[in-house]
Amino acid sequence: MASITLKNLVKKYDDGFPAVNDVSIEIADGEFVILVGPSGCGKSTLLRMIVGLEDITSGELSIGGRRMNDAAPRERNLAMVFQNYALYPHLSVFENIAFPLRLGKAKATKSEIRSRVTEAASMLELTEHLDRKPANLSGGQRQRVAMGRAIVRRAEAFLFDEPLSNLDAKLRGQMRSEILQLQRRLGTTSVYVTHDQTEAMTLGDRVAVLKRGVLQQLASPRELYEQP
Ligand code: ADP
Ligand code: ADP
Repeated sequence: MASITLKNLVKKYDDGFPAVNDVSIEIADGEFVILVGPSGCGKSTLLRMIVGLEDITSGELSIGGRRMNDAAPRERNLAMVFQNYALYPHLSVFENIAFPLRLGKAKATKSEIRSRVTEAASMLELTEHLDRKPANLSGGQRQRVAMGRAIVRRAEAFLFDEPLSNLDAKLRGQMRSEILQLQRRLGTTSVYVTHDQTEAMTLGDRVAVLKRGVLQQLASPRELYEQP
């Protein structure tokens, strides 16, 4: 895994209004940082800048100490986990997890693919489901397949965009503890966008509060949410 450094990051869209305005955060290797703030405050824009889906207007982004402003998304080797999972419906769980290993730079041999997918599936308790299609899985299982993809790639960090917001309360609780366990086991550097205070409290090492693109607060959940 890797550290991620955001230094004076600015994003202006065509209308010139800064959606992200001078944001600086140093995320340590293995740290879990939560991004919160009202709708439209720039959370998704910031995630997309980190992952490389959005150009950086000014400022500096480094991953593992290397400047990444102009690197293509796949050179950054970050794993984005979305709420809609973005799984391929016609592929089995095995093939969905293996997918990143069949492409480009990460291309692995057949036996390497088998061993990495098997290992990830066992960590995520998906071993019995490897032959299923996504449509035949529960919401929580689909979420785990999406995370399996990131694990096999040995990504430098996980970026989560409200991954649990479509789940019912029970499943959300389960997934929250799964993400926490995974985090403890792998020591993943993570940036996680959420509206849910319980998720911020349980998962976050630190919480970054954004408002109109500006970083308002950066503190531990305890400092932020507990009464003085
Ligand atoms: P959040 O994820 O916190 O809801 P966003 O990052 O989606 O916020 O949006 C931040 C601001 O940038 C909002 O004012 C939004 O309207 C604007 N914005 C987002 N994407 C675009 C875009 N592609 N073009 C122009 N403005 C955008
Ligand atoms: P949970 O989401 O709490 O794991 P579910 O009730 O969604 O539980 O699923 C229970 C079990 O049934 C799971 O092991 C899942 O793989 C299986 N399952 C769910 N939906 C289907 C389906 N459409 N076809 C086959 N198996 C399914």
